[in-house]
Amino acid sequence: VKTQGRHGYCFYAPEMSQRSAASQRIENVLRHALAHGELSLQYQPKVDAVLGHIVGAEALLRLQVEGKDLFVPDQFIPVAEDTGLIVSIGTWALREACLQARRWQREGRAIPVSVNVSPLQFQYAGFYERLDSILNETGLDPNLLELELTERTMMSGGDGTIRLLRRIRQRGVRLSLDDFGTGYSSLSYLKHFPVDALKIDRAFVRDITQDAETAAITSAIIAMARSLNKDVIAEGVETEVQSTFLREAGCSQMQGFLFGPPMPAEALELRLVEQAAV
Ligand code: C2E
Ligand code: CA
Ligand code: CA
Ligand code: CA
Repeated sequence: VKTQGRHGYCFYAPEMSQRSAASQRIENVLRHALAHGELSLQYQPKVDAVLGHIVGAEALLRLQVEGKDLFVPDQFIPVAEDTGLIVSIGTWALREACLQARRWQREGRAIPVSVNVSPLQFQYAGFYERLDSILNETGLDPNLLELELTERTMMSGGDGTIRLLRRIRQRGVRLSLDDFGTGYSSLSYLKHFPVDALKIDRAFVRDITQDAETAAITSAIIAMARSLNKDVIAEGVETEVQSTFLREAGCSQMQGFLFGPPMPAEALELRLVEQAAV
């Protein structure tokens, strides 16, 4: 804290209140959005690395307020986390994704849908019970649901985390470790946390064709994950060169603009229909 006279002290105040005003505004938008159905999910295809067909989809939150531009998660998830609103928003997203996956299941186009879980939501007492009741209520086959947890989420769970992760898997829900390679993640986490898959972060994928070291690390991660019997998904795949590298390195699935951006459920469904017709 600068204490150069009373004016120096005051200097920071407007800046701070400005920041919290912006965050306050987003908080209001979020509360309104929750109450008025302005939140939606888009679905990004995950494709089989070898065959190229769609084998799953990741549900991603979008916020559309009338007369305004679409808000993307990086603008509102941090505020939702700070204010605790992420618990309601995350529950909404989980239920909505399960309802959609259930619709696809009913129509004979069953694909697993992945949902992101934030640390606060995961820590929140009753996370398992809520998940269980959403599965019961929607009637979704639990094998068609995958939860994507970052290392930060897993770390936030404390002592009970591993037990909770096991319970979720025993319920039939798949778990994947998201954004792998960022943060402190190391391969020992893979042994420690009972997950089915890991997602290689976009930052690695972006650099594999630029930087030989990143390429070597990425190959090593894929090889070791596979030897531990984990599926490996690469995210943020934008070019054929990246795709070829990742496939040859042993990635089982890929996700990225090369295969399709996040899109409304109906658009993904069209892709599934097209695919079934081939
Ligand atoms: P994430 O889980 O790592 O999701 C992948 C992000 O990469 C998405 O951004 C997606 O649109 C973007 N992406 C996909 N393919 C490409 C590509 O080829 N190139 C590039 N440059 N980007 C690509 P999005 O939708 O803006 O979401 C950002 C983050 O917000 C997500 O990162 C996730 O951490 C969070 N998020 C989104 N939906 C939810 C949710 O329902 N709950 C929680 N807790 N977090 C969410
Ligand atoms: Ca994710
Ligand atoms: Ca990710
Ligand atoms: Ca990410």
